[in-house]
Amino acid sequence: MKSKTQKLHAKKNIALVAHDNMKDPLCGWAVRHKFKLSAHKLYATGTTGYRLEEATGLTIHKCVSGPLGGDQQIGAKISEGEIDILIFFWDPFEPMPHDPDVKALLRIAAVWNIPVACNPSSADFIISSQYIAEDYERLVPDYESYILDRTS
Ligand code: PGA
Repeated sequence: MKSKTQKLHAKKNIALVAHDNMKDPLCGWAVRHKFKLSAHKLYATGTTGYRLEEATGLTIHKCVSGPLGGDQQIGAKISEGEIDILIFFWDPFEPMPHDPDVKALLRIAAVWNIPVACNPSSADFIISSQYIAEDYERLVPDYESYILDRTS
């Protein structure tokens, strides 16, 4: 697959998702980093979004709840270039009814070269990176040449 660069602006689009047992850790993390997060546009699955708004007072653009398709909505936004970073505290101890959606979200984040944090320390590293507050050139699949190869 050929790649091309996509410019990310200093203001990032950050998606936040947490399974039920991980919502407290995510809210705690978001409260600690509220100031930095406030510089970016924030998205979340339904319940996570309400919990984060309550905990931080920040505005969150909410998709539907994860088990009802919210993970897939976030995944679709990633493939449309609308999400730059995924903070996804999935629960390593509980099987979920929407496990296929969880796997699909992680897969599409890998395809589109999205930084992903699955626990508080990796999220600390991402939010502390110099790139969080700067423009950044990200390599992404070159869809135009991909579709041209397949149709010509
Ligand atoms: P929720 O969804 O934020 O609506 O709980 C998260 C998930 O289970 O993927």
